[in-house]
Amino acid sequence: MILNNSPISQFEYKNRTFFVKRDDLLDKNFNGNKARKLACYLEHDFQEIDTIISYGGNQSNLMYSLSCLAKLKNWQFIYYTRSLSKTVKNNKYSNLELSIKNGMQLIELGNEYSQFTSNLTTTPNQLIIHQGALQKEAEYGIKQLAAEINTWAELNHLENINVFLPSGTGTTAFFLQKYLDKHKVITTNCVGSRDYLIEQMNSINCNNSQLPFIFDNQQYRFATPYKELLNLILEINKVSQIEFDLIYDPVGWKILLENLKTIKGTILYLHCGGLTGNYSMLQRYNYLNNKSATS
Ligand SMILES: *Cc1c(COP(=O)(O)O)cnc(C)c1O
Repeated sequence: MILNNSPISQFEYKNRTFFVKRDDLLDKNFNGNKARKLACYLEHDFQEIDTIISYGGNQSNLMYSLSCLAKLKNWQFIYYTRSLSKTVKNNKYSNLELSIKNGMQLIELGNEYSQFTSNLTTTPNQLIIHQGALQKEAEYGIKQLAAEINTWAELNHLENINVFLPSGTGTTAFFLQKYLDKHKVITTNCVGSRDYLIEQMNSINCNNSQLPFIFDNQQYRFATPYKELLNLILEINKVSQIEFDLIYDPVGWKILLENLKTIKGTILYLHCGGLTGNYSMLQRYNYLNNKSATS
């Protein structure tokens, strides 16, 4: 199983060269920034642990990666989410279906979800992974990712490169900036406001490290189908010959391109994987198309 040293490819678009760090190519089932965030658990022994407890969205990429981790480790995996609609439950080839196939035990909570998940307690055999893995254990694998980028820049005599990625919790962007001290990490908020992203990053910022630079996304709501974003990502898929994810990357590329003129020098786009979620997101697009799409 390959969990580090992902390749870097490149393509030309809008008269610029974009390098892409291909973390989508790590392992088929365990890739992207989730593989980096969870590397610490995969590479170390946790003898007392036999169960993972986590919670969050019902199509989360992290949920799916945790189901793969649990399977590899021979651990149980319990996942709490809000009550699911029939459509979500019957969704084929979704992260939810794949996770359940991997043995995930899904527990749906109603109104008590927020209260319950903010007060989770565990026994010594249980490992808690918070929503989005916004926790310091993620640092281990992201430090390795930063080391790979530093080495690549050095070998190619590139100074002050710009590493761009779209953010959910900001965990990846935050730890990357911490270890890419000669380079600039740029991100955008895909979940919630820019202020909310800063708040989340500060919750893991113990040593007052510099935060990544954030382009403010004020327009696009999380996991919502926008026709213009689908068109853009399909175009980028075609030009680059790379398949990007349909939740974070459309917003990421849109905001990056809008701000392209302000970025001087080399751009390295971090592909954060997540392609298993594309099938269900495309279905949402198709559903909307049949009604009339947001745009
Ligand atoms: C989880 C995820 C992100 C966001 O990662 P954070 O560290 O939470 O900011 C971005 N892109 C993809 C494809 C993801 O799966």
